[in-house]
Order: sequence, then structure tokens, then C-alpha cells
Amino acid sequence: MTCFICMTCGTQFSESPEPPPACPICKDDRQFVPQAGQEWTDIAALSQTHSVIWNEEAQGVHSLQISPYFGIGQRAFLIEGPDGYILWDCLSLIDEASKARIAALGGLSAIAISHPHFYSSMTEWSAACDGVPIHIYADDGEWVRRSTFALRPWTGEALQVGKATMIRCGGHFAGSSVLHCPWLEDGRGALFVGDTMQVTMDRKWVSFMRSYPNLIPLNARAVKGISQAVRPYRFEAIYGAFPGRTIQSDGNNAVERSMERYLTAIDG
Ligand SMILES: [Zn+2]
Ligand SMILES: [Zn+2]
Repeated sequence: MTCFICMTCGTQFSESPEPPPACPICKDDRQFVPQAGQEWTDIAALSQTHSVIWNEEAQGVHSLQISPYFGIGQRAFLIEGPDGYILWDCLSLIDEASKARIAALGGLSAIAISHPHFYSSMTEWSAACDGVPIHIYADDGEWVRRSTFALRPWTGEALQVGKATMIRCGGHFAGSSVLHCPWLEDGRGALFVGDTMQVTMDRKWVSFMRSYPNLIPLNARAVKGISQAVRPYRFEAIYGAFPGRTIQSDGNNAVERSMERYLTAIDG
């Protein structure tokens, strides 16, 4: 029996003797099945060819990503907090070097995930870190492919995770969330946004989509809802899901003007 991993979205499935017939996450209109068809791997095979690269992004913030490029290519973040390390978003691979490095730091206090595209191998990561709780938004639970006792589906508008806050914004998925860490950036705060907002290539703006690969925009109500959800929180930096996509300063203002620019664009 094998826990197969979809090579397109990087999601790990529960044990089966044969690869699953299809990946529901890739068949959804927010993702895609490649022209060559669905392909599968597993952690053992992936760890032969790939590793997890750590980058120090700022004081107390490491980004983690799979190298060479795999699946959606997102970065996860290991965030040092006043009450332990939080893993924000997740990867398809956990390698031995990362396990040892996390153990040397004293383990994780929580895993928090923005939305189903980054569930990846969350069950494997939790199991490797003493069964640490995984916080995902309850409305997106139907997309979980490999369940675990460590899952903590949450509801409502915000969830306290130590000194950090998960904020439900919706839009990209019903439960699309971001993570606010007020102690980072010397107390001016940082926001980790997953795909709820996309930090654009110029690292000055964000944008919003139901599907990024298939270019399906969100409507005005959804985009206003996202900016309203984060408005009560102060943040200087915005960490996007992909390498290099970080807004270093004036984060609150970047979200507000990006929302205005987006609304002007779709209103003609
Ligand atoms: Zn998939
Ligand atoms: Zn996504």
C-alpha cells in the first residue's frame, strides 16, 4: 500500500494499492490535469530526487520549498513565535534533514494551512512532528485526501494559534485564510497570504483570483470581503506563496490600493 502523491498539485492521498483513478483537486476548475495526463509519485520516490531547501527570509521567518521545482511550487514558512514554531502552509515532501532541523528547534507548536492546494503532505508533516495539530478551515474539509487525528477544522472569522491569528478571508476557496503574526518585523507585523492574495511580480501589489492557472477572477464582493477581513490587523510585510514574492513594507496600504485597483479594473 502506498500514499500516492499527485504530481500536478502535490496532494498526498490515503493508502491504496494502485494510484487513485483521478485527482479531484486537479479536476476542479481552479486547477488542471496536464496534457500528458495524471501522474503519481510517493514520498520515498520524491526523496530520491528532491529535497527541502530552507531560506532565512527575515528574523524569525524561514521559507521552505521543494527543490527542484515540484507540484505547484509553493513555499511553506517556519515561523518562530513567542510560544513555539508554526508551520504555515505545507509541502509534499518532508526530508530527513528537515525533520532533524525541526527536532533540534524543539518541534512545532502548530501547522496552519491557508487552503486545500497546500494541504500537500500535511499528515506526513504532522506525524513527523509528534502529531502536532493541523488547523484548516472546516468549510474546505471535503478536499482532504488523507485524514488524520491531528486535523483541527475551525469555523468562524478568526482563530488564535498561539500569538498568531488565522483570518478567514474566503474568495479563492470558501475557507481561504491568511496568518497574522504581530510580533514579526520588530512588532510592526507580517501577513502570510497563501493564494488568498497573490503578491505580484513587482512586489508592490497583490491580486485576487478564484483560479490563478485558469485566470478566473473574483467578483467585487469577494475582493472587498478579503480586504475587510484583514483591515483590523496591522502588518508591514506580506509573504506570498511563491519564491521572492514578498512585499517588504506598508503592507496594509498595499492591500487597500490593490483592492481599489482591482475594483476599478473589473468595473470598466
Ligand atoms: Zn492533483
Ligand atoms: Zn490555490
